[in-house]
Amino acid sequence: MTERDRLSFVLHGAVVYSKDKDEMNCFEDAYAVCKDGISEGVFTKLPEEYKELPLIETGGQLIIPGFTDLHIHAPQFQFRGNGMDIELLPWLETYTFPEEAKYSDLSYAEKAYRLFTEELINGATVRASVFATSHRGATLRLMEMLEESGLVTFVGKVNMDRNVPDYYVEDTEGSLSETEKWLNEAAKKGFSRTRPIITPRFTPSCSRELMTGLSELAERYAAPVQSHLSENLSEIKWVSELEPDTSSYADSYVKAGILKKSIPCIMAHCVWSEEEEQEILLENNVFIAHSPDSNTNLSSGAAPVKKYLEKGMNVGLATDVAGGHSASMINAVRSAIRVSKLRNRLFDRDTKALTFPEAFYMATKGGGAFFGKAGSFDKGYSFDALILDDMRIPTTREDLSAMERAERFIYLGDDRYISGKIVAGKRIR
Ligand SMILES: [Zn+2]
Repeated sequence: MTERDRLSFVLHGAVVYSKDKDEMNCFEDAYAVCKDGISEGVFTKLPEEYKELPLIETGGQLIIPGFTDLHIHAPQFQFRGNGMDIELLPWLETYTFPEEAKYSDLSYAEKAYRLFTEELINGATVRASVFATSHRGATLRLMEMLEESGLVTFVGKVNMDRNVPDYYVEDTEGSLSETEKWLNEAAKKGFSRTRPIITPRFTPSCSRELMTGLSELAERYAAPVQSHLSENLSEIKWVSELEPDTSSYADSYVKAGILKKSIPCIMAHCVWSEEEEQEILLENNVFIAHSPDSNTNLSSGAAPVKKYLEKGMNVGLATDVAGGHSASMINAVRSAIRVSKLRNRLFDRDTKALTFPEAFYMATKGGGAFFGKAGSFDKGYSFDALILDDMRIPTTREDLSAMERAERFIYLGDDRYISGKIVAGKRIR
């Protein structure tokens, strides 16, 4: 069987995916067609022209596009679930920096990144944008492992030249030259599913000189950028002290030249972004990585996500391990809805709660858009799919609609109910 054959097949089962942020396409019995790794669409009766393709019979299982985790820290996977009683800045000092510093040791990185990669393969994530550490060697190793996994990812070597402990800080020039070396080495690997993303940790740990240098690298190497924005109130106050000539936290990225239209960008959190900042994000097509579990665990707040969606901003969902305690995107979808209800009920009656279709959309087509055409079974989209044995979740109801099954999977399901996973046309489990 050739690679081309392997990437062309038909999946038969119940199918659910987002039409847009408000509506779902739901089929109780349908055929999702993948040709050369690209979706041909979903059909209730299989068209003649696809009858020659191999048919994968799921026995009525539920087929959904799989989730994009728009923001996750691979090295923080080892301490997930710990340190959940402190806020962002002390949490970074106590847990994050000591653990990330260990990745200067390649054999440790190898062991730790193996566990991380296995978790992503087994879970509901098909695509992810990943922070590594500042270490070039370990970051390349992580990229190799993710490439081998079949997942589609962006991976970033982290940059930091200030306000980080001596044992982990970089100097400005060294940080830039290591990043350029890493970009060149990554290009030589010839990855097809793994791409580099420029990753200044956040304004408090990056001087403007470093950030400006990184923006030049992003343009020269046509790489996107990821960072953090307006997560925690103490952090925001600190940014205003460190960067007194800026009018908002986002403006510190604009002034450094790293947040601009010509560079695709993901900003995690945006919990406290006010009108001016929202305008900057909207004008520059920035993707917001909404991380409800992380924002709850680190007492950061509850982002006005519904408002962002209504304004037409790009919003995806993220686990933000290890601010988020779990790498499960199923949890992220569920938490996004629940946190938005608390925001609405407790202190912001003007911002409505998220609906199920909106949260599902953010986890699929919304965040997937950062990767191009991903997160849907519409014709022309890269074919990602989860096959879910959801009817193993006990119930007497055999008449559940496809939509009800999808809802039930989000609220009650976990990785154990994933019986198959396809990423960009390739079966990875
Ligand atoms: Zn983060």
